[in-house]
Amino acid sequence: MVENQLKEALDSLKDTGVRITPQRHAILEYLIESMSHPTADDIYKALEGKFPNMSVATVYNNLRVFREVGLVKELTYGDASSRFDFVTTHHYHVICKSCGKIVDFHYPGLDEVEQLASHVTGFTVGNHRLEIYGVCPDCSGKEAH
Ligand SMILES: [Zn+2]
Ligand SMILES: [Zn+2]
Repeated sequence: MVENQLKEALDSLKDTGVRITPQRHAILEYLIESMSHPTADDIYKALEGKFPNMSVATVYNNLRVFREVGLVKELTYGDASSRFDFVTTHHYHVICKSCGKIVDFHYPGLDEVEQLASHVTGFTVGNHRLEIYGVCPDCSGKEAH
């Protein structure tokens, strides 16, 4: 699964003419494997042992390249540092108010909401964003079901 996703991501980079450096390879791999919506800083910390010459700025620049070709999404939820999400199928996020952890969940696209919004306002609707906030099992001391 991870390997297929990584291979597809690398192929689409090749198609868009983006050079695949060992760092880019490692960053993509980390994004796909971790599924934790890491910040540039998290990625830097995870990979600095492997790439001693890499800086946080390099990580960030690479993430920007991935974002421009549509491989990753930059998530901004009002806190200081953006988190990055490898783009797979459309999904929603539930966010812990206590520790900031973001977890994916899947739900059928809320297309009716878009249609309704468009109908009521006359807007041509492009997309929507939905976030659920709460307290994660680690923070509330409860086990996930
Ligand atoms: Zn939490
Ligand atoms: Zn996500």
